[in-house]
Amino acid sequence: MSKLFDAIIVGGGPAGSTAGLVLARKGLDVLILEKKKFPRFKLCGGMLTRKTIDFGQSIFPGFISTLELKGITEKTIESYSIKSEDRLLYHGIAQHPFILVNREKYDHLWMEQAQEAGATMRVDRAVGVDIQESRVITAAGKTFHGKFILGADGSGSRIRRALAQKTSIMPPWSKHSALAMETFVERKAVDFQDCPELFLGLVRDGYAWSFPGIKKQVVGICSSRTKNGRELKKILMNLLSRMGLPKPEHQKIQAHFLPYGDYEKLPGYKNVLLTGDAAGLAEPLLGEGIYYAHASGSLSARAIYECMNKPEKSCDVYSQFLTKIIGSMRNRLLFRRLTLGMPKSVAERSLRFLLPFIAPQLENRIQGQHTGSPR
Ligand SMILES: Cc1cc2nc3c(=O)[nH]c(=O)nc-3n(C[C@H](O)[C@H](O)[C@H](O)COP(=O)(O)OP(=O)(O)OC[C@H]3O[C@@H](n4cnc5c(N)ncnc54)[C@H](O)[C@@H]3O)c2cc1C
Repeated sequence: MSKLFDAIIVGGGPAGSTAGLVLARKGLDVLILEKKKFPRFKLCGGMLTRKTIDFGQSIFPGFISTLELKGITEKTIESYSIKSEDRLLYHGIAQHPFILVNREKYDHLWMEQAQEAGATMRVDRAVGVDIQESRVITAAGKTFHGKFILGADGSGSRIRRALAQKTSIMPPWSKHSALAMETFVERKAVDFQDCPELFLGLVRDGYAWSFPGIKKQVVGICSSRTKNGRELKKILMNLLSRMGLPKPEHQKIQAHFLPYGDYEKLPGYKNVLLTGDAAGLAEPLLGEGIYYAHASGSLSARAIYECMNKPEKSCDVYSQFLTKIIGSMRNRLLFRRLTLGMPKSVAERSLRFLLPFIAPQLENRIQGQHTGSPR
């Protein structure tokens, strides 16, 4: 038999590298299997909320200054606008600044932290998981055994698919997931706003956004109702053209699935756990997932550490740690259905009336606060 690792983590995004960092710091023998060589591109708006910044600071001091020093911060955002197709619904001053980051560099930083703490990273793709034998088979033909297996392999998770065949866990991309599309536009192409803009009412059960970077503007859209790629692309193109882009049909548009309410209350089975997007843990209103990847990554690591002598109990322990997060996912999903899920005319009328009253509280909830720091 090959060497037995304490934990094999499949996927080295924010969820996997956070779990790897926490476990390695506790002295565990950790292997991170990541299919892409870092730094690697990740389709994302790169928006960090206050709770994500709190989390970063709780885990490594000097987090914000490191982001700035390494050129990871693209912009610090002090205000935001919420628009319908043709009018401004609300303009708010952010109660706490949002930070826009370059995801390629951001994920690389976290991976470096995990490696510095002692985690081994191997560039290889997991192609098979034997849950019974607790082993992972890779594209390079290797087999790795782990006391624990952590699926941190994103929204199309192979580990989640393997669990779905054995348990009641839903496979990835089930009904609550959304199709998301993004394009990166040269900022000089159009006179873009310098604050993030959210567009409501273009799609049901979703929204569109435009985030300012240093050189490029990220314009994107997601919907759990419109999962037809062509249809969603057409809506995004219309938005780009309304923004005044000369030839939006030449924009390179990329698509990815977003969990958006696809979470599992019991994300795993015995000693095989799911974290981040693989567990469906992206927030179901705006699709924020970076914080939830970090938070669930660290909670899964804590569950693993506490269950070193009883691995089969780790999923139950992890699910208890996730109670608060799952509760907030449920509330946001309900809120989304009552707002973004409504037909366009109803949504616009009610949001125009409600937003001035609820936007500050909503922002406060979205910004959140990270309270439980990993032990
Ligand atoms: C268009 C779009 C915009 C978004 N914008 C924002 C935003 O502005 N702010 C925000 O907070 N969130 C945003 N999100 C959500 C956020 O990107 C995700 O929630 C977050 O990346 C989840 O982190 P993760 O570590 O779980 O997964 P990922 O970041 O997807 O990392 C998974 C890793 O696993 C690797 N992998 C996959 N399969 C295998 C395999 N078989 N073997 C080995 N490795 C594998 C991948 O290469 C990848 O590195 C956005 C998402 C989309 C689609």
